[in-house]
Amino acid sequence: MIVHDGQRRPEAHRPTVVFGSGFASREVVRGLVAAGRPVVVVERGGREIGTADAALSQVAFRREAVRSGGFDFGAQVPPDFDGVPRFVGLGGTASLWSGKWRALDEIDMRRRHDDRQWPFSLDELEASLAAVACAYGIPSWSSDATLEDWRTEVEAHDLRLIEIFEQRPPVRLIDQWNELERSGLVHIVAEAGLIGVAHTGSEVHRLDLETPQGRLAIEPRDVVVACGGIESVALSEHLRTGKRGDGARFGGYMDHPKGIVGQLEARRGRDRLAHLMTLRGQASRLIAFALPADEIERDGIGNHTAFLWPAGHDGSGSGWQIIINLEQFPERENFIRLGARSEVSWRISRATWQDMNRFLERLSKRLSGLLGPVRLESGIQLRGASHPAGCLPMGDGSARQVDAAGRVAGCDNVYCASSAVFPVAGSANPTWTVAALGHRLAAHLGRA
Ligand SMILES: Cc1cc2nc3c(=O)[nH]c(=O)nc-3n(C[C@H](O)[C@H](O)[C@H](O)COP(=O)(O)OP(=O)(O)OC[C@H]3O[C@@H](n4cnc5c(N)ncnc54)[C@H](O)[C@@H]3O)c2cc1C
Repeated sequence: MIVHDGQRRPEAHRPTVVFGSGFASREVVRGLVAAGRPVVVVERGGREIGTADAALSQVAFRREAVRSGGFDFGAQVPPDFDGVPRFVGLGGTASLWSGKWRALDEIDMRRRHDDRQWPFSLDELEASLAAVACAYGIPSWSSDATLEDWRTEVEAHDLRLIEIFEQRPPVRLIDQWNELERSGLVHIVAEAGLIGVAHTGSEVHRLDLETPQGRLAIEPRDVVVACGGIESVALSEHLRTGKRGDGARFGGYMDHPKGIVGQLEARRGRDRLAHLMTLRGQASRLIAFALPADEIERDGIGNHTAFLWPAGHDGSGSGWQIIINLEQFPERENFIRLGARSEVSWRISRATWQDMNRFLERLSKRLSGLLGPVRLESGIQLRGASHPAGCLPMGDGSARQVDAAGRVAGCDNVYCASSAVFPVAGSANPTWTVAALGHRLAAHLGRA
């Protein structure tokens, strides 16, 4: 399957080369294997968790830290990886993540922000979301009478309930890769780095890699970049231009700033809140609040999410913390700069703070009406959530770096599947959508 002699082979004998081995990659590879197509997976990190991976997994940043942790509701990370925002090694960031599955909302896929907009609707991603749900055991919950009753009451207070599946323990991907390798169609090259790219016209026809076993040349049929929201940008540029592009800036970096924004004293609906804790404990069903979709669209507010978290241990008391997960809109001044190691220059801008305040004003009034008095914090501290997105936006508009199929602009056989292609990010945890994009891309490549 791996070509050393650089001779041009018929397309059917050439593998698809997939860079990265996280959720996006696994969905692409799973689909291609089902279509009987050979795949080479090129992984920058090692096959085992080691300290070298911890160093590789750090991200250089300016202004706001790009670091994980905080209100993560129990992420379990291996030693040496505390606060690391991604995982470079076989299995990708699935080795660290907290397992909260939530797809983007319909409104996120519909909304335009400046010249950015998803080029398809949530309906068109539905089949891929369902395939991912099936692959990773995301349940479709049966209706719960207490919750449905409450939903009606919550909606009467102009709030929307959001449901998230909190998988415990979160799926990791090592076993899945071993299984894919056993198919005989998948070859994994670990600890490999791209050192050369040759083009024929607008196609990549040869890749040169450095590996612990020596240099390797591969003649790909097509190339998929699935290296996460930060590294996918550098690799796509390298594949597109044949150069590393040191110093180039890619704007529109987004994360989900989060923090404790206030306290609620529940004077009403305490049985409802206790029920939410039961749903979480027994069905891993996490419930949060958002504003109605039509209001967000009409007033141009971010699609932010608010969680209620018991101040006491089990939710039997009246004190609840309000924790926010914000949507950030894409801004040019938040960018990735390419270099020997890509650097993220990102801040929680005045526009984000203002938008959060508009949201909090509405949220606190409505939660007060529904449950009891809300006291907003005076000095709110926000931090990122390790959900990098947005520097290679997908779309039809002028901001487009990737087309609706996932093809990188200017290169006919290079594709990207990652949160880097999110034109608008909402505040949903990104992985379900990322994996669905991988699944959708596999269907496209399989058909081709
Ligand atoms: C602590 C933590 C908790 C999280 N919790 C959640 C959560 O609860 N819910 C949620 O939805 N999201 C969560 N996330 C985010 C989630 O982990 C990512 O959205 C998801 O793993 C992204 O998958 P991916 O396949 O796009 O990228 P990754 O899993 O990051 O995979 C990228 C792959 O590319 C490889 N790679 C990098 N550079 C190169 C290169 N140059 N050449 C070859 N290979 C390369 C990496 O080694 C890796 O295998 C969390 C993140 C962190 C850090």
